[in-house]
Amino acid sequence: MSAREWLDKDFYAELGVSSDASTEEIKKAYRKLARENHPDANPGNATAEAKFKAVSEAYGVLSDPEKRKQYDEARRLFGSGGFSGAGGRFGGGHGGFGGPGGAGGGFDLGDLFGGQQGAGGLGDLFGGLFGNRRPGGAGASTVNRPRRGADVETEVRIDFHEAVRGATVPLRLSSPATCQTCRGSGAKPGTRPRSCSTCGGVGLVTRNQGAFAFSEPCPDCRGRGQIIDSPCGDCAGEGISTRTRTLTVRIPPGVDDGQRIRLAGQGEPGRQGAAAGDLYVVVHVSGHKVFGRSGDDLTITVPVTFPELALGTTLTVPTLDGKVSLKVPAGTSSGRTFRVRGKGVGKKSGGNGDLLVTLQVAVPSKLDEEATEKLQEYAEATADHDPRSELNELLGR
Ligand SMILES: [Zn+2]
Ligand SMILES: [Zn+2]
Repeated sequence: MSAREWLDKDFYAELGVSSDASTEEIKKAYRKLARENHPDANPGNATAEAKFKAVSEAYGVLSDPEKRKQYDEARRLFGSGGFSGAGGRFGGGHGGFGGPGGAGGGFDLGDLFGGQQGAGGLGDLFGGLFGNRRPGGAGASTVNRPRRGADVETEVRIDFHEAVRGATVPLRLSSPATCQTCRGSGAKPGTRPRSCSTCGGVGLVTRNQGAFAFSEPCPDCRGRGQIIDSPCGDCAGEGISTRTRTLTVRIPPGVDDGQRIRLAGQGEPGRQGAAAGDLYVVVHVSGHKVFGRSGDDLTITVPVTFPELALGTTLTVPTLDGKVSLKVPAGTSSGRTFRVRGKGVGKKSGGNGDLLVTLQVAVPSKLDEEATEKLQEYAEATADHDPRSELNELLGR
């Protein structure tokens, strides 16, 4: 649930009590409504179920003195339902209120409250506004401070060979960047922003309401602390414009499918001189029709004939960028794996993984007459050798 929804709800009306109702009155009203609308008492009645949920939610807030206080304060400050239309005086553009990077159009309460929508209690949602409980939260009191640029994530697909050997790939990114025309100030070239006189450049104004004093974003400068009299034409005074840039990304050897590569400082620009965010590139690696990967090792399965395994042979095995000779000793079992050192994937620590060659007997689906005859002779000649001798014990033979 967003903070806006919280504010749009009238918990008092939901429970049918006045806004100055005592805790006892609230409890009584809740019990009555909860009993009447309980799903057990109204099987299959969606209206009752919705009412039961609404009443429970209202009671959850109003029964907790701390939450009730914050809810009351928020309604006083913003007016009940006052946020339905994002127009208002906080509306429009990325006036220091946008989320990280400020790409959005309208004003989003979630940003004001710390970008933490649906975080559970009202305390969390309003913490950024009423007391900065969330360390590092982008609460109202930090609106005009320098803010680190947002991290950006993008994806790239490379082929198997590039993943093993490393590659340099171009990346096209469309992202908000410091406006080149005004160099991020938002003011038309030749002019400068001036400090807001309403808030003295702080971005916040203090308002007294009964016993409470509230800080809220300055309505004149929208929390920026600065007024721009002649906005830059290219970025409409935001200091940020959309820029398409091409980056050359060096992908290190040995990257795995799904791995994220971090490029420090290549994310969105920071505000007011703060550091830029980072760019994360998620690498997708296409499969290879012959080779597989097992960490730093390359794998390959090589079909062989029975005579090659029984009599021994020397095989020529492809590697990613060449070939190697592999001596297969007489009497090698099918399924055995040989390790060819250094023909695998480049390691982060330097050096290379290995190539793992698995031999697998290929059995012909058809034999001609002569081959069949010879094989039968072979079978007779080796009749004494029983490959299943160990199983025979289990079979009781
Ligand atoms: Zn500009
Ligand atoms: Zn101001």
